[in-house]
Amino acid sequence: MKKIDVKKMDREKIVGTYGRFDLVADHGKGAVCVDEEGKEYIDFTAGIGVNSLGFCDDEWVKAVTKQLKKLQHVSNLFYTEPQARVADILTQRTGMKKVFFANSGAEANEVAIKTARKYSNNKYGNDINWIVTLENSFHGRTMGTITATGQDAYHKDFYPFLGHFAYCRPDDIDDLYEKVTDQTCAIMMEMVQGEGGVVNLSKEFVKAAEELCQRKDMLLIIDEVQTGIGRTGKLFAYEYFDVKPDIVTFAKGIGGGLPIGGALFGERACDVLKPGNHGTTYGGNPVACAGALEVLNRIDDAFLTEVEKKGVYFKEKLSAIPEVSSISGMGLMIGVELKKKNAKDAVNEALEKGLMILTAKEKIRLLPPLTITYEEIDKGLKILEDVLK
Ligand SMILES: *Cc1c(COP(=O)(O)O)cnc(C)c1O
Repeated sequence: MKKIDVKKMDREKIVGTYGRFDLVADHGKGAVCVDEEGKEYIDFTAGIGVNSLGFCDDEWVKAVTKQLKKLQHVSNLFYTEPQARVADILTQRTGMKKVFFANSGAEANEVAIKTARKYSNNKYGNDINWIVTLENSFHGRTMGTITATGQDAYHKDFYPFLGHFAYCRPDDIDDLYEKVTDQTCAIMMEMVQGEGGVVNLSKEFVKAAEELCQRKDMLLIIDEVQTGIGRTGKLFAYEYFDVKPDIVTFAKGIGGGLPIGGALFGERACDVLKPGNHGTTYGGNPVACAGALEVLNRIDDAFLTEVEKKGVYFKEKLSAIPEVSSISGMGLMIGVELKKKNAKDAVNEALEKGLMILTAKEKIRLLPPLTITYEEIDKGLKILEDVLK
């Protein structure tokens, strides 16, 4: 094949929705990415929390290619074994009852929204359909999920939206009591707001939401698209908050790099959707499920303890950097507030020096592969320290 100028062709031929960083990724292994010129980068992004096992993990590649050679797709009109196995592991490990498989985080949240509305419509008629989400949240880019997203920046230019969403200030229990009315059918929130700037919620607030949901027979929807699948040191972050959600959505980290998402349903919500109510052609594709199976089998208790330890190690080393003013997040989902330096500038300078990092609002955000080694962490943090000098 003739060599092409990737950046030039991309700029000319691909819709400009992404402000891409200056790196043409060619291949990778573990937490190291290599660009088309052979330059190596330590990866603190994991493809935005997707590559849980890093780039091209040997066992994951083996599992995925084995499935690929057997059956790549057959549609949801038929049964497949990998899908059943992933559902079995997820339900066993969470105590949730059933799963719906989708392809992305936004789609996972769409099914959660539809289920919440149908739950209340079935029980109480058509007037109970408001959903309360949080200001500063992020739930996706479809028309439904940008409506759920409590940030004006994402709404601008796309009116009109889905009706009947209300936005509550995070951690403001009084505001929650005000925003939830007799017409509310669900409360939906992230445990750590990811795109919103790696903002941890308080346990008191999350417990108050749970209590309200039980008392008023609303569904508690936890969006674990970014926090889920071991990212915070538990399989799901809600485990830290001692709550029992009705719907948990997941995506990013589960496929290890393949597009798969979905929603887990508890007792109250698991039989709301009936044949014909919802569907997707690709959702729970066997190859993506084979990848998910490998990821889930690897993330056992010892693995999760290791994620927690690495998170603590990151925080210790980061807090010793003078330019760092505060650190947020849980496990290997880390937000770093800087004293003077602009986060975007820091990302560009880090890239120049061989380190991939992310931003979230005005912060630097780190989402390394869960399998990152201490040596790789040290190497990356050394670069970050240089950049922040
Ligand atoms: C990324 C993200 C989404 C959207 O996921 P997509 O796969 O990009 O559709 C939804 N919710 C949260 C919390 C996310 O971090």
